Amino acid sequence: MTRQPAATRPLAGCLGQTLRQDIYAERDNPPFDRVCMDGIAIRSDALSGGLRQYALEATQPAGVPALTLANAAGAIEVMTGAMLPGGTDCVIPLEEYELIDRVASLKSNALGEPHRNVQRRGSDSRPGVPMLRAGVRLGAPEIAVVASAGLATVSVSRQPRFMVVSTGDELIEPGEPIAPHQVRRSNAYALVASLAAHGFEEVRTDHLLDDESMLRDRLARHLAQSDVLILSGGVSKGKFDFVPKVLKELGVEEVFYRVAQRPGMPMWFGVSSHGCAVFGLPGNPVATLVCLVRYVVPALIAAMGTRRTPPPPIALAVPILRGRPMASFVPVTVQYDDHGRQLAQPHQPNGSGDFLALAGTDGFIELPPQAAPYPAGFVATLHRW
Ligand code: AMP
Ligand code: MG
Repeated sequence: MTRQPAATRPLAGCLGQTLRQDIYAERDNPPFDRVCMDGIAIRSDALSGGLRQYALEATQPAGVPALTLANAAGAIEVMTGAMLPGGTDCVIPLEEYELIDRVASLKSNALGEPHRNVQRRGSDSRPGVPMLRAGVRLGAPEIAVVASAGLATVSVSRQPRFMVVSTGDELIEPGEPIAPHQVRRSNAYALVASLAAHGFEEVRTDHLLDDESMLRDRLARHLAQSDVLILSGGVSKGKFDFVPKVLKELGVEEVFYRVAQRPGMPMWFGVSSHGCAVFGLPGNPVATLVCLVRYVVPALIAAMGTRRTPPPPIALAVPILRGRPMASFVPVTVQYDDHGRQLAQPHQPNGSGDFLALAGTDGFIELPPQAAPYPAGFVATLHRW
């Protein structure tokens, strides 16, 4: 897949998007010496010189320019978030004095070191130093940083145009009546949900029958109108599995077909002459979702230019008694031992059609091929849903 171009978006619509510009502080952060407690601002040298009573001169709220202390033995009442008044250098919180007739009498525990309860100008960040780098996926904290930089719009990776196509004569939409020989079209919903969870929004769907001419007509249109085409079903060796053949006829170049893995062996991948990436996922629901997370999502993340930490290692909580001659993917819940370390608890599905086993799991582990069983403590790779 090729890198997605950048596009400008309003900040409010950027949750989950990938940043394509570095973000610099607009100005010093904090932008002024900022009061961080409600109380009185005084001169610390007045306090260290023994002065315990201060006459209030004025009140300095947040959001107004700084006042200036007139008398070295006076105080200005200050609110959290206010500018530190000129001529003062520390804030005594209101718990540490008593105020009678606009005179603050310090209690015995009051302390007054320079800059106490003052967040110094520029102590969090300075202009010119990047606060965020291109490639970051924008969550709530990152969105706050962009807002603090004063940007109402931001450059992010453009969303690919997705088409999710389920194939199969037997598939029936939820909400429609169903006959005994039919099954619910659940894969398309799982695929769209997983894409949404990874920040992909522009997803259209279609359902095609196992009919060569219908597949040819509709897939030709989808190839022309999409950046990413994700198909489920119709890629195995059955008599009605037309997907690889039709895709080739439509000029989609096959990059790979079949992977030594379980589930998901018949997976197909190709690229159209217009650069549309085509993922042909096996129809079995466990295989569909595993292949999406294991292959499609990482490819999309790379195309978006998102910085990504590699999937983490995790130890098996219990042994898996049978070795496998090919890579295998096993749904797991993530548990914790007494030392707070993560362990993978397998939930072996009852075959790759058993997607009920996936509900409640955190993801799946990837086990390498080996003849021997996988003992408890065996370290595998964790892919979260
Ligand atoms: P296929 O890959 O087309 O041979 O399908 C393999 C199995 O997955 C069959 O039992 C199909 O009925 C089932 N299947 C295919 N597509 C879906 C879907 N969208 N939702 C649920 N099950 C499906
Ligand atoms: Mg089928």
